[in-house]
Amino acid sequence: MVSGRRLQPLSAEPHEGSALSNDEESSERAREALLREIAQEVLETSDLLGKSALAPRVMTAMAKVPRHEFVTGAQRLLAYENRPLPIGHGQTISQPYMVAVMTDLAAAGPGVRVLEVGTGCGYQTAVLAETGAQVTSVELVPQLADAAAERLKRLGYHDVEVHCGDGAKGWPPGAPYDAILVTAAAVGRVPPALLDQLAPGGRLVIPVERSGGRRGLFSFRPEQELLLVSKDPEGRTVERSVLPVAFVPLIEGGGGLHS
Ligand code: SAH
Repeated sequence: MVSGRRLQPLSAEPHEGSALSNDEESSERAREALLREIAQEVLETSDLLGKSALAPRVMTAMAKVPRHEFVTGAQRLLAYENRPLPIGHGQTISQPYMVAVMTDLAAAGPGVRVLEVGTGCGYQTAVLAETGAQVTSVELVPQLADAAAERLKRLGYHDVEVHCGDGAKGWPPGAPYDAILVTAAAVGRVPPALLDQLAPGGRLVIPVERSGGRRGLFSFRPEQELLLVSKDPEGRTVERSVLPVAFVPLIEGGGGLHS
């Protein structure tokens, strides 16, 4: 299952993109084309997003991060397609549109303290860091956490912290956070630890699966919605459902390793 994407009608299959070599110039051109696609999809979903364009800072960050460095093998040829891709361990790199929208909803920017839950390959982590945010990211699968930490360092993202552990419990040493961004779907409710670790005035962006999901004949299509939870200065939270989405599950209550 590839996840981390906006849920679209089944007829809207992603088109095949042109294969590209990985030299800098073609990657840059492919990124520019991807940015145009993201801008177009934002326009098409403007009613749901409540805006017709994302913050320029977010688009600039998307333009800078070399997505082909976050996937391996044959997936590299598809790195600049606006779709999620498999990254091994049954996990995925999220759809670029979704990464951009979540970064925008989190209001990531210079000096903003962000907790990301679900590092995966580290792509969203890098986009957050490119906005100038101060990023702490937690990943449950040790191999993914190690590989992402190594990759982010190699690409020059020296200030991000990657930890291995159960991010459903947040990461208390860095709390409170101005923004928390979860890239795996919680079931039924927002994990209480994440609400606790959100600073007053903060924003929490999380896919949540409602009402047990729906089982089709050949596929399981859970009902997930992307939520934006805002905490006001007095600590009260307000929730807004933004988009129907499809993400891999957030594993809760497991005995993840902490480092
Ligand atoms: N942020 C990634 C997408 C990651 S997919 C990107 O930029 O593309 C979701 C990730 O959440 C997976 O790597 C999965 O292992 C991780 N995950 C699931 N449950 C978790 C938990 N409780 N704590 C931390 N990570 C978790």
